[in-house]
Amino acid sequence: MHRSGANGRLRLGVMGGTFDPIHHGHLVAASEVAAEFDLDEVVFVPTGQPWQKSHKHVSEPEHRYLMTVIATASNPRFTVSRVDVDRPGPTYTIDTLRDLRAQRPDADLFFITGADALAQILSWKDIDELWSLAHFVGVTRPGHVLDGMGRDDVSLLEVPAMAISSTDCRARVAANHPVWYLVPDGVVQYIAKYGLYEAAAEADTPPS
Ligand code: ATP
Ligand code: MG
Repeated sequence: MHRSGANGRLRLGVMGGTFDPIHHGHLVAASEVAAEFDLDEVVFVPTGQPWQKSHKHVSEPEHRYLMTVIATASNPRFTVSRVDVDRPGPTYTIDTLRDLRAQRPDADLFFITGADALAQILSWKDIDELWSLAHFVGVTRPGHVLDGMGRDDVSLLEVPAMAISSTDCRARVAANHPVWYLVPDGVVQYIAKYGLYEAAAEADTPPS
């Protein structure tokens, strides 16, 4: 396998997200960081189901996982991991990184986050183990200030502004507005095929 790191280790980007649905903001962020940091691969990691019962509805993990596979299939350097989807309970970044580290002991991990997610991570109390598991890369996102709080273990990267959010994509589908060109074509078709995000849709059952 190709190894580009000066130390001979694989350089593996990690893009965690709910991906409900995955959109071009996620894909541009991953692609830009991959180019800038000379990554061999970026693994997209859809989260598990955040809460068993919640007023904030999140689509079934299997739907989010499959949309992520569809969106990344054409890029030879993009892969998708089931570690979070298959782990019961809510997803914590520390578990994601521990599991990937165990699966890929030959890799240096680069955890990619948008400005909003980075600010959340930096506000946690017990973040020290996170820094030992991965280098963090924060990318710009419209509407959010990118701030690494002066930490050496966080790199900041300006990426082309994509004012796209999954929240907006879901609202568009519910309002019968198009999501063409905001998400990959295959994801537009997947959303329509399973009736995801439709205003009255309570019954989005994943394929079995
Ligand atoms: P939601 O609106 O449901 O929160 P989202 O668009 O924020 O969805 P997430 O799955 O929450 O998408 O985000 C996963 C990761 O991708 C986070 O680190 C987030 O900051 C980053 N990200 C999402 N959209 C963009 C974007 N347009 N530009 C840069 N980074 C983004
Ligand atoms: Mg978000």
